Amino acid sequence: MKFTSPSQIEVLVQIKTHPFQATSFYLNTDKSQQPLKAINAAYKALLNQARLEVEQKNLPKEVKKSLSDDLEKISQFCTQRLNSWKAPGLALFSCSGQNFWQELELPHGPRNRIVQDFDFYTRPLSAILEKFKKLCAFLIKRKEARWYEIYMGEIRLLDSLTSDVPKKVKMGGFEGYESKRIERHIEAHLLEHFKKSAQKTFEILKQNHFDWLFVGCDDQFYPQLEPLFHSYVKEKLKGRIKARPGTEESKILKECLELEEKLKKKEEEELVKKFVSELERGGRAVSGLSDTLRKINSYEVQNLLITHNFSKPGKVCPQCHALYLNEDLCPSCQVKTELTADIVDEAIELALNKNIPVFQITPPSRLEHYGNIGAFLKYKSQ
Ligand SMILES: [Zn+2]
Repeated sequence: MKFTSPSQIEVLVQIKTHPFQATSFYLNTDKSQQPLKAINAAYKALLNQARLEVEQKNLPKEVKKSLSDDLEKISQFCTQRLNSWKAPGLALFSCSGQNFWQELELPHGPRNRIVQDFDFYTRPLSAILEKFKKLCAFLIKRKEARWYEIYMGEIRLLDSLTSDVPKKVKMGGFEGYESKRIERHIEAHLLEHFKKSAQKTFEILKQNHFDWLFVGCDDQFYPQLEPLFHSYVKEKLKGRIKARPGTEESKILKECLELEEKLKKKEEEELVKKFVSELERGGRAVSGLSDTLRKINSYEVQNLLITHNFSKPGKVCPQCHALYLNEDLCPSCQVKTELTADIVDEAIELALNKNIPVFQITPPSRLEHYGNIGAFLKYKSQ
């Protein structure tokens, strides 16, 4: 099943796994970023690690069996299905003891991980929802206008409008007063059509809480159309597309997603640029894993920038939950730290719990030259 709406998260949150536990599995299956061989190696490593952890857990026999069965089912699923898996991400949720199993195709590659706990782990799903913009495509030509919603890789027709605009008369022949009059008559109809469409665009944007608007309209009409947009519409307007009323939905979708990707990439680049210049002038920014973790521990981070899917092992203090790259002893508690397979993941988790925004930057970017991680700080770095 495709992951397309918050209601799917709700379903998972509602599932009661007691007295058993829940297994949540996330895999980046984006074959444009990595070969199938690497994807296979990644899921096998995750499963092996999880099997070891289940063995070490101090749980009743039947709870352990349910967790092991989950891992077995996930393993079988991956063996049979990854070859032909098309979506860039996969999420599996299993509780064998309760006979629950759910697979989701994700529109974006998540961080690889398995979480076995009392409840299903759905934060990566919420993160994907936040990442996707809700787009409106407004397509218009002489007589027709259409509005589409594009969200989570899906397209849906919202509304359409047909106006009675007379055909353009052929010039020539009886040029003069009569044809000029007809021409003005047509222009008035056309303007009326644009006005109605612009007003409807405003209503649709307001009702559906869109993030961005894309407009498909001929260059010859655009100068007449644009001034008719409400200032709220102008704020949402992010670009023009080639699609027109009548263009196949799959083509509209493809064009909108490409433009969305381009605009998001630009936003990311601007953010990284701002980050680098802050860093270079010795302002309120920090880079590199070790220093960034230090600033997270001391509550100085304003927001976090991480290269998408960057991961590193590290240490966590079991007492104060501070994060370290390689401290064996927590400097503040003098307690022995515990090894964790992915300290970056722990950092993201901690940041989100404290409501610190986390920006995952798609590589390649300049962030890679700064250790793949950094943060804007609340105060100037010491
Ligand atoms: Zn500590």
